[in-house]
Amino acid sequence: MNSQHSGLSPQQAAQKAFVDQFEYQPQLLVYAPGRVNIIGEHTDYNDGFVMPCAIDYGTAISGAKRTDSLFRVYAVDLQQWDEFDLNKPIEPHPEYKWTGYVRGVVKYIQQKCPEFKCGADLAISGNVPLSSGLSSSAALEVATGKFCQVLGNLALTNVEIALIGQQAENRFVGCQCGNMDQLISALGQKDHLLKIDCRTLETEPTPVPHGVAVIIVNSNVKHDLVDGEYNSRRQQCEQAAAFFGVKALRDVSIEQFQQRESELTALDAVVAKRARHIVTENQRVLNAAVALKKGDLQQVGVLMGQSHVSMRDDFEITVPEVDYLVALAQEVIGDSGGARMTGGGFGGCIVALAPEEKIESVRKKIADHYEKHTGLKETFYVCHASAGVSVL
Ligand code: ADP
Ligand code: MG
Repeated sequence: MNSQHSGLSPQQAAQKAFVDQFEYQPQLLVYAPGRVNIIGEHTDYNDGFVMPCAIDYGTAISGAKRTDSLFRVYAVDLQQWDEFDLNKPIEPHPEYKWTGYVRGVVKYIQQKCPEFKCGADLAISGNVPLSSGLSSSAALEVATGKFCQVLGNLALTNVEIALIGQQAENRFVGCQCGNMDQLISALGQKDHLLKIDCRTLETEPTPVPHGVAVIIVNSNVKHDLVDGEYNSRRQQCEQAAAFFGVKALRDVSIEQFQQRESELTALDAVVAKRARHIVTENQRVLNAAVALKKGDLQQVGVLMGQSHVSMRDDFEITVPEVDYLVALAQEVIGDSGGARMTGGGFGGCIVALAPEEKIESVRKKIADHYEKHTGLKETFYVCHASAGVSVL
């Protein structure tokens, strides 16, 4: 995922760029990972359950304190600059979207910690593929938050940093995402999946079973409408919650849903389908966590398959290329694991859990068929569940 820097890690690339661009030595290096969600899609903003892991791809920031109140930021991968002043109101950049993730985090850190006034020079570099469902945005937000926390010696926990990242994305960038991406980037644990209760923020780690690979395949389908579609799904979920008279769909059990499903369908068939996805998906996450603890990968695979069908038919966030990738992976994996789309949808990646000895046959199956069938070349990754944000 690091094509831009010819073999340098994000940490190395950020440090090298810092010295090249600012012509002095950096004093701080932070790193935050992207993530892959194993099960529980679009449930986070419904106060529900998710089960992601942080991955071994992420974003690094190399930086140093300035004596004034300027933030000067160099995005290594885009070769673009940003500059803003902490003593003035922080507004969106007129042109560069990426700056919103940095400016937004700094703005909301300042709101929470008004003592944060010191300027800094930053070089940012990452190797999470952008806009592919692996959350490069959260990696950037959490890395920025950690950078400010350490630089300013601020009393902020990693959970608070994550929530500030979400706030920046919701209010500053304008994507109404939930809290999963930032929480897992902040709290990930090496070799573990993390079940997160997105209402209480309770987390429960479960080891990735020994000999099981986390495979990610990028369809390389990209759509422009993702933020709009995302925000409309969120609205539909809120409509459904209002119908049931609850704060969020998390509060509706499958039985309660079924009792009033036809009534809701008569009112708004699309909203009913959206709600069915969320209500059933929440239960699938809970069931998957139990199955995983027992080492029952077959059952986890069944649940991943059901999750995919629900995203495809009820939530309507998959695309044919992604459906096809899932089918190819499932054909090889059989009942030894599972596969599903991962991330917000409308393109992006699939995730599969499979015995390590099946990695090469999954790779080959997809290489043999995907491009022929779709005209697109996939990107195949075997990744490892990784630790969350760190100061190096
Ligand atoms: P995802 O989070 O799934 O990768 P998003 O659309 O939410 O997709 O976020 C992608 C955006 O985040 C990019 O278009 C860019 O603006 C910003 N971004 C992420 N990583 C970096 C980086 N290393 N340097 C600059 N901008 C980045
Ligand atoms: Mg994102």
